[in-house]
Amino acid sequence: MDFGKIDKILSGEKKFRAKQAGQLIWRDLIDDWTQATTLPSELREKLKAEASLEIKAEIFTGKDMQSFKALLTLEDGLSVETVLMRHQGRNTVCVSSQVGCPLGCLFCATGKMGLKRNLSSGEISEQVLFWARYLKKENERVANIVFMGMGEPFLNYDNVFGAIKILNDDNLLGIGARHISISTAGIIDGMERMAEDMPQINLAISLHAPNDELRLKLIPVAKKYPLEQVMAAAGDYAAKTNRKLMFEYIMIKDINDSVEQAKELATLLDNRLYFVNLIVYNQTGDFTPSEPSQVKKFKDVLMKAGVQALERYRFGDDIAGACGQLSGKNTDL
Ligand code: SAH
Ligand code: SF4
Repeated sequence: MDFGKIDKILSGEKKFRAKQAGQLIWRDLIDDWTQATTLPSELREKLKAEASLEIKAEIFTGKDMQSFKALLTLEDGLSVETVLMRHQGRNTVCVSSQVGCPLGCLFCATGKMGLKRNLSSGEISEQVLFWARYLKKENERVANIVFMGMGEPFLNYDNVFGAIKILNDDNLLGIGARHISISTAGIIDGMERMAEDMPQINLAISLHAPNDELRLKLIPVAKKYPLEQVMAAAGDYAAKTNRKLMFEYIMIKDINDSVEQAKELATLLDNRLYFVNLIVYNQTGDFTPSEPSQVKKFKDVLMKAGVQALERYRFGDDIAGACGQLSGKNTDL
């Protein structure tokens, strides 16, 4: 599907046609222009011939029957992954913002690929459109969107913001900003811009270590954005938006999961608006996931110190659709 081509054709038409087409695509979720009966037949034919609505994809279903991964083929032949998680009656779509990622975090499969290219706004929003069409067949809809797929959203800020505007638009898909979350490895300028542009979006910061020494070993970009600055930007974000702020912490055995490190983390997260999501490391090759008993100990230390901590449910690790396992291959385990 190529939104650029669609826009180009519609730009030569009366203005209201673009609005009509937008509603057909995003509200009625048509997947073939033949269904666009509100458009004049000549325009319909032209769109059908030159700007197909087809989204080329292959779907993989998790053993838990709650997680689904789709490998979408883009116009230039590259592919990108998006995941649908169906949990407790809520459908959450995890989208990618880049093909690959330039930041090379040591624990992340996407990071190992390097950056192929940024995704356009159309290519980002198309991932959600794909699942919206899929769910429509069961009379269900997308409830939440998380930017936790491939790539660093704040290194592709404009296109991510452009996609959010499409997804959020009441005349189109109409997903409320409070149901959209962006996860960042700690790109401060992006956090600042987001607080201005869309303060109702949920922000998640990937921390993974309670001090710079360890963080630097795991997340190379931490050199540019030291913890002190990341935490200051987080504080500003919380103060400006008065919204809860999520910190992600993947639990890697004997690397960042000790009781001492939990205490250090608790000190760092001394703000009533902060909470931590503990994510047990998904195997990508180099490290070992923390033992469940150690995760519990770690969580207890945080809770006792007054820091809210949750353990994130693990989706789709058998289809390599879990966090950090997305690498654009069919399966990579
Ligand atoms: N680039 C952004 C968003 C995409 S990654 C970021 O880093 O935040 C989404 C989440 O998956 C991040 O919290 C990331 O740290 C986490 N993640 C990456 N590799 C992982 C792995 N192997 N196991 C568990 N979580 C992982
Ligand atoms: Fe990029 Fe996020 Fe993976 Fe780090 S964890 S390499 S920032 S996608």
